[in-house]
Amino acid sequence: MNGKLKLAVGSLILGCVVLALKTLAWWLTGSVALLSDALESTVNLATAFAALVAINIASRPADSQHPFGHHKAEFFSAVLEGVMIIVAAVFIMHEAWSGFMAPRVLEAPTEGLAINAFATVLNGAWAWVLVRQGRALKSPALVADGKHLWTDVWTSAGVAVGVLLALVTGWWVLDSIMAALVAVNILWSGWVVMRTSLSGLMDESVPEEELGRIREVIAANAEGAVEAHDLRTRHAGSATFVEFHLVVPGEMTVFDAHEICDRVEHALHDAVPESRVTIHVEPEHKSKHQGIVVLD
Ligand code: ZN
Ligand code: ZN
Repeated sequence: MNGKLKLAVGSLILGCVVLALKTLAWWLTGSVALLSDALESTVNLATAFAALVAINIASRPADSQHPFGHHKAEFFSAVLEGVMIIVAAVFIMHEAWSGFMAPRVLEAPTEGLAINAFATVLNGAWAWVLVRQGRALKSPALVADGKHLWTDVWTSAGVAVGVLLALVTGWWVLDSIMAALVAVNILWSGWVVMRTSLSGLMDESVPEEELGRIREVIAANAEGAVEAHDLRTRHAGSATFVEFHLVVPGEMTVFDAHEICDRVEHALHDAVPESRVTIHVEPEHKSKHQGIVVLD
C-alpha cells in the first residue's frame, strides 16, 4: 500500500530472522543473558505485527462511525509495545535470579557470540531506517519501533561484553548479572515509549514552531477578516487538526466570509500536510484583542 506498510512488513521479516539467530545463539550456549536478548527479539516480532495491523487501520479513510478518521490506532500499537517490553523485563529478571543462585558454565560461547553479533548488526541497520522513515512519515508506531530496536542493539552489545567477560574470567555469574541489567534497560525504554504515545492520546498541541507556522499562514491569508483567536491544534498519527475562530465585519456577506475561510483552509493544507481545518466565523463584537492573530 504505502511506505509505512512496506516498512512494517520489513520489520516483520527482519524480526523473524533476528529471533531465529538469537535463539540459536542461546541454544548453543545456554546463556541467560543471550536468552534475555532472544526474548527481546520475541517482543520485537510481536510488536512489529501489532504495528502492521495498527498502520493498516490508521490509513483507512473516515467513515460514519469514525468521522475524524482512524489515525489514533497507531498509538495503541505503541502503548501495547510498552506493555510487552515490561512483561519481557519481568520474565528476564526471574531467569536472571535463577541463574544468579546457580551459575553454570556456558557451552560454545564463541559461536554463540558470533551469531548474536551478526543479528545485532542487522537490527542496528534496520533501527536506523525505521526512525528516519518514521519521522519523515510522521508515524509514531514506526518511530517507537525504531527506537525500541535501538535499545535492543545497545542491550545486545552489553550482553556480548558480559558473556565475553564471563568467558575470560570464568566468573559465570556475570552472565546472570548481564541479563538483569538488560531487564532494567528494557524497562526504561518501555516507559519512554509509553509516555510518548500517551501524550499523543492526550491530544497534545503541535510543537511550538509548527504552531508559529500555522499562525503565520492564517495571518497571511485571511485578508478581509478582523482577527483570529482561540487557535487550537492537536496531533493524531499523521493528521494535524487545526481549529480557530475568525472574526469578520458584521455586515460581511456569508459568501465573502466563506471565501476567506476557503482561502485560509487551502493555504493551511499546503503548509501542514494532512491537516484538518475547522473555522468558526464571528462578527466584530466577538473580538478578544488578546492571544490573537491580528489581521490587517
Ligand atoms: Zn470567538
Ligand atoms: Zn465551505
